[in-house]
Amino acid sequence: MRSQGSWPLAPSVPPAGVDPADWTDWGWQMRHRIRDAEGLRRYIEPTPEEDAAIVDLARRFRFVITPYFASLMDPRDPDCPIRKQVVPRPAELGDAAGLADPLDEVAHSPVKNVVRVYPDRIAFCVNNECALYCRYCLRKRMVGDSEWTMQKKELEVALDWIAATPEIRDVLLTGGDPLVFSDARLEWLLTRLRAIPHVELIRLGTRLPVTLPFRVTDDLCAMLERFHPLWVNTHFNHPKELTADAAAACDRLLRAGIPVGNQSVLLKGVNDDPETMKSLCETLVRMRVRPYYVYQAQLLEGTEHFRVPIEDGIEIFKGMRGRTSGFAIPQYVLDTPHGKVPLDHPFAKGRDGDDFVVEAWDGAIWREPNPRPKDPA
Ligand code: SF4
Repeated sequence: MRSQGSWPLAPSVPPAGVDPADWTDWGWQMRHRIRDAEGLRRYIEPTPEEDAAIVDLARRFRFVITPYFASLMDPRDPDCPIRKQVVPRPAELGDAAGLADPLDEVAHSPVKNVVRVYPDRIAFCVNNECALYCRYCLRKRMVGDSEWTMQKKELEVALDWIAATPEIRDVLLTGGDPLVFSDARLEWLLTRLRAIPHVELIRLGTRLPVTLPFRVTDDLCAMLERFHPLWVNTHFNHPKELTADAAAACDRLLRAGIPVGNQSVLLKGVNDDPETMKSLCETLVRMRVRPYYVYQAQLLEGTEHFRVPIEDGIEIFKGMRGRTSGFAIPQYVLDTPHGKVPLDHPFAKGRDGDDFVVEAWDGAIWREPNPRPKDPA
């Protein structure tokens, strides 16, 4: 069988006994999600450590995986990059430095589940549910936890706050995952947002094209395209996630006129080597999905084993410059309670006399004659 991520992309393969029509039905996938080690055995052979961690970590952070995503795992390799993202490990229990809310989102929340770090933009966490739960999730403190469920009246409170705050021109619907909502619920929410004149742009942050691509139905796309301008950012981390099913989901969104970008997290042992990152980004571009951000993994509880030194991350993206298309190179960023900070290699060295000195991708130093800035009056 062709390996996943190589072009042309391979489709997912349902396990024996599953009707292909069920497999591609997102409702079937949600109803048949894996919730324990026994269910996981249909797809992989969990190690004793994974078995123990599933039980030991059950009360700390939910363990749920879609059958589709489980089918992408290597059944025998515990170092499989898909497996590492969603199957608990004992290392999650030993992280002294990790925080519950490293971006201080609770303190940046004017009303429940609205996070405002910038003057003109908000992240609106419209639900606390995902199709599966990533072990490194920034919102571990809330996803899958019923305390953070948004009842309709709480969504109304947040919508009223947006309507009363005219500086907000850009609303990111996130969670959890907004595409876990039914089409009807999402349509209601988008209709309410579009009725607010100062909301220019609506974005959806969703991992469902990666974890449950069958959710992106023609009906969903036909509904979404009534609410333009609408942008989608999804979250592929590894070339193995780039299946024909995932590419078809992105294609349906693109055909509805929705630009699709990708935001990855730099994860040790998953995508922290230059070849993997280059292959991921180049294949995304073939799918017409723009690599947008790669986040430095946060100082988040239970995730020390995922964190990569920032210097190593800078080298990965420096190494892509000049060696692939410019728009295949994502911006490597550190998110902080003050917003995102770019983590670029300093190609621009600065002024030297009448020149501006830069370093080219191949290490050559170039001096560009540079007019003097105006003296401040
Ligand atoms: S899909 Fe996103 S919000 Fe949901 S668990 Fe994964 S990282 Fe967290």
